[in-house]
Amino acid sequence: MAQPAEPPYPLPGHAQTDARLPAILNTVVDGIITIDEGGTVLSLNPAAERIFGYPAVEVIGRNVNMLMPEPYHSEHDGYLANYRRTGVKKIIGIGREVRGLRKDGGIFPMDLAVSETQFGKERLFTGIVRDISERHQAAQERERLIGELERKNAEMERFTYTVSHDLKSPLITIRGFLGLLEKDVAAGDHQRMRSDMGHIHQAVGKMQQMLDELLALSRVGRVDNPPQAIPLAELAHEAAALVAGRIQQKGVRVEIADDLPVVIGDRPRLLEVLLNLLDNAAKFVGHAPQPQVRVGWRRDNGEAVIFVQDNGIGIDADYRERIFALFERLDPDSEGTGIGLTLVKRIVEVHGGRIWVESAGPGHGSTFCFTLPGKQGAP
Ligand code: ADP
Repeated sequence: MAQPAEPPYPLPGHAQTDARLPAILNTVVDGIITIDEGGTVLSLNPAAERIFGYPAVEVIGRNVNMLMPEPYHSEHDGYLANYRRTGVKKIIGIGREVRGLRKDGGIFPMDLAVSETQFGKERLFTGIVRDISERHQAAQERERLIGELERKNAEMERFTYTVSHDLKSPLITIRGFLGLLEKDVAAGDHQRMRSDMGHIHQAVGKMQQMLDELLALSRVGRVDNPPQAIPLAELAHEAAALVAGRIQQKGVRVEIADDLPVVIGDRPRLLEVLLNLLDNAAKFVGHAPQPQVRVGWRRDNGEAVIFVQDNGIGIDADYRERIFALFERLDPDSEGTGIGLTLVKRIVEVHGGRIWVESAGPGHGSTFCFTLPGKQGAP
């Protein structure tokens, strides 16, 4: 007589189910914990020991609440109380995400499915626990990336708008003076022709400068130069030498602290940062009787903050964010394109740092502060 085929997965009640059960409980990756109606732990498998960090002997006989942080205690009690009241047999909480409490105090997200069985007169609950910390982290990381992408997109939109808007202004100047030039050529007015051409030259020069600086800005995200340890004092002296022309012209006294930290980064880019900040400090000295610029550093909440401080025209509180935006200039007649600080901010942020400006207001000088990762992560 032919033997009946062995079912691939033994059905409940099948002799082999009982034989395989301990093997399954001991090898399954999910934690399996059985409790009685009062919440006392009757058994837990090795995966549960691993997940919660307790050997079974430290848990068996104690209340299952020890494996749950607040407020899940009450939630669990709520379920048991409800069960005792109604006596309704049901499987609750499949896939429900709750938190577990490890022996070391760590709290982790977990999936919990609870089933109940009648064992003689006793009703038992078996919880199947899956540690989903990694899934949680991945979801959080995904949220963070989506947020960053949205911010970048919005910035890109603003950027495109500003670029197309501001590049138009020299073009409008050129078109206007070309019209005048045509008329002056027709009238044979050489003096005005020269003046028209002068304006056109100036607008072309401005446009060229804007395009060059935009190109520099677009390159900042790319790592061109391998990161290296840079003593900032040395870099600041180099930057000061490069803007010596304006410094001398404005009679500015530059002071560079000897103990500036050593930072890790792209040397030419960080030189650009100091160059722009020193150039601005010298440019916006205003009418200070003794123009002064100080490059120094301080420790704020354990973090090194490098600063370039001047005693110049200062910045109104309303503009302290705006000046870092593209093409923003507080005085449209001042020399420059309004790209410098955008570039500086971009370089500092690409290095993982932050930049901001402090000022007691117009006439009280400005302090441009920034952070950069140091030799061991913090300077
Ligand atoms: P630019 O110098 O080419 O105009 P920036 O982006 O470097 O452009 O600076 C933007 C604006 O921020 C400047 O036009 C000026 O109004 C203001 N600013 C920058 N640095 C200083 C400073 N040290 N003191 C006062 N105002 C400043």
